[in-house]
Amino acid sequence: MREDVTVLRPIDSFHQDPIGDWVADLRCGHGQHVRHRPPFWERPWVLTAEGRDGKLGAELPCVLCERFELPAGHAPYKRTREFDEHSIPSGLLKDHSTAAGVWGVIHVIAGRLRYIVESPLARELVLDETHDGIVVPEVLHRVAPEGSVRFFVEFHRKP
Ligand SMILES: [Zn+2]
Repeated sequence: MREDVTVLRPIDSFHQDPIGDWVADLRCGHGQHVRHRPPFWERPWVLTAEGRDGKLGAELPCVLCERFELPAGHAPYKRTREFDEHSIPSGLLKDHSTAAGVWGVIHVIAGRLRYIVESPLARELVLDETHDGIVVPEVLHRVAPEGSVRFFVEFHRKP
């Protein structure tokens, strides 16, 4: 396990993959294998329903969140109207975050938009027509127009 991963996500449930290995369903929408394969992975608890129940709510580091990866199977369900540098809601200029399991995609139609992501991801990006911004659930972030810009935000979740 990498030590620099700092995005921790609680386990909401478990399912088995097609070959029967157990996968933890994390609240962010990502799945993570929790295999019992001694001597490499020692997780005897995963083999019993009791053991798995005991791990519900436990947090695992999520590398996919750290990589700003939209979970597979998530779909857009709403979007904001289009904003420009004058109509951008003040809430978007201040640190804010989406709810658990809600991902966002910031689409820039024209111009440039600075996208600042706070700890634990701590990233600063400049978005444009060819670079969307992925909004990771429950991670504080804000945007700042770089001159004239037009953009909207699309929200994704598990259907
Ligand atoms: Zn995740």
